Amino acid sequence: MIECTNCETAQFLQITQSRVYFEDGELINEITETYQCTLCDSTGTLTDTESKDEPVIDGDVQITTERPKFA
Ligand SMILES: [Zn+2]
Repeated sequence: MIECTNCETAQFLQITQSRVYFEDGELINEITETYQCTLCDSTGTLTDTESKDEPVIDGDVQITTERPKFA
């Protein structure tokens, strides 16, 4: 999931812009999502391209892998 690097939570993130690029009129080739944290006003973008294994992150957001915590 995506979270704010400042607040370290996804709770206040909103997608402010989402763009989908098409190839050959049907296949989704690239998705760009712009996030804004409503708590600290940070913004960041995520670009998910089909030719790459992992999404590219820019700005004040990060991808976290959810895993169970055993305290
Ligand atoms: Zn934040």
